[in-house]
Amino acid sequence: MHYDKSIKAYEKAQNVIPGGVDSPVRAFKSVGGTPLFIKKGEGAYLIDLDNNRYVDYVQSWGPLIFGHANKTIEKAVIKAVKKGLSFGAPTKAETKLASLICSLFPEMDKVRFVSSGTEAVMSAIRLARGFTCKDDIIKFEGCYHGHSDSLLVQAGSGAVTFGCPSSPGVPADLTKHTLLAKYNDIKSVKECFKNSKNIACIIIEPIAGNMGFVPADPKFLQELRTLCDKHGALLIFDEVMSGFRASLKGAQGIYETVPDLVTFGKVIGGGMPVGAFGGRAEIMDNLSPDGPVYQAGTLSGNPVAMAAGLASLEQIFKDETLHVRLEKKAKRLVEGLKDAAEVSGITLQVNAIGSMFGFFFNDKPVKNFDDALKSNTQCFAAFHQGMLREGFYFACSQFETGFISDAMSDAMIEETIEAAIKVFEEIA
Ligand SMILES: *Cc1c(COP(=O)(O)O)cnc(C)c1O
Repeated sequence: MHYDKSIKAYEKAQNVIPGGVDSPVRAFKSVGGTPLFIKKGEGAYLIDLDNNRYVDYVQSWGPLIFGHANKTIEKAVIKAVKKGLSFGAPTKAETKLASLICSLFPEMDKVRFVSSGTEAVMSAIRLARGFTCKDDIIKFEGCYHGHSDSLLVQAGSGAVTFGCPSSPGVPADLTKHTLLAKYNDIKSVKECFKNSKNIACIIIEPIAGNMGFVPADPKFLQELRTLCDKHGALLIFDEVMSGFRASLKGAQGIYETVPDLVTFGKVIGGGMPVGAFGGRAEIMDNLSPDGPVYQAGTLSGNPVAMAAGLASLEQIFKDETLHVRLEKKAKRLVEGLKDAAEVSGITLQVNAIGSMFGFFFNDKPVKNFDDALKSNTQCFAAFHQGMLREGFYFACSQFETGFISDAMSDAMIEETIEAAIKVFEEIA
């Protein structure tokens, strides 16, 4: 396989774009090699500048549940584009998409649209703080909620502490209100409530996808609900990744716990930049212009983005067996990978829910960020490079989630497993 054109394009990009990429995860830093520059996508496939073709398990990091260049979404977008790209005034498409989403969740009366997952979470947290008149928030080690300042706090392993910023440029004054707890560890959350009487909300990925794929224990989520109710804090489910992906109703279709606010992104825009957050009217009505909590956006609810989101969600709603089909493929893939690894004496921890899957090069089950960090990232890097050579595009980090699209056939899954047998042999 040649990567000459990608290598050249990457060199040029680095001269004018920091690191040559507009989002750091694209840079292949942890697996080595050059990021592939993409010419186009076709269904399940990604095609790079050198005309190499890959079965794509990244799907733009989640949004493309129907694969690349889905005809229905394409048509809806072209139709919208012809009427103008943006008005800065309301359109009926926003109400239609909002109604569709609210119809799924009995506890969700209203949603507001923004342009990214980062914005959705940032706004939901501001709303939670405004609604509760409290400042502190609890987040979990290894959960990612976008790159806004007060959420850019990750794992300080060990004791539960007030967070330290994990990036220069974020003043400690801004993150001192972010308390860190351990995923799937209710004791660490209780500790936070002991340390602060000022907790506005708990934010969690109910199915974590940003420390690798780590679903929450059902009981853990229920206990979070109980703690929030006891202390007058809001529970926020960040379903930017799991929304419409893990099941039609995201994590809420799988767990019984009902959050106060939910954030969406990725699939909700069908490949266009859309985010959203929603909840009960009692909370949502605190937003400007009806309430005092300010939140705004020039391109929020953009008509072209709404058209893509609607075309994507309407297809998902119509297709009652979609998630069952996708989960069957996801489970077959991870079980196949696990067995293939075992033949070469490599132990994988695997998991799949709906169209999301993950695998850790790890001897022990992964329940939290500390467990995830014990994975063998060198093995992962070798796997990634090997699979790329074989024509299979996996996320370029051990700590990401994989995605199945409806454009993928059973045969592609089997081919992936066949290739993996070969690659695992090489690694071992
Ligand atoms: C991707 C992601 C975000 C951030 O969304 P962007 O659209 O990249 O800003 C937030 N939360 C979770 C759970 C995500 O997976």
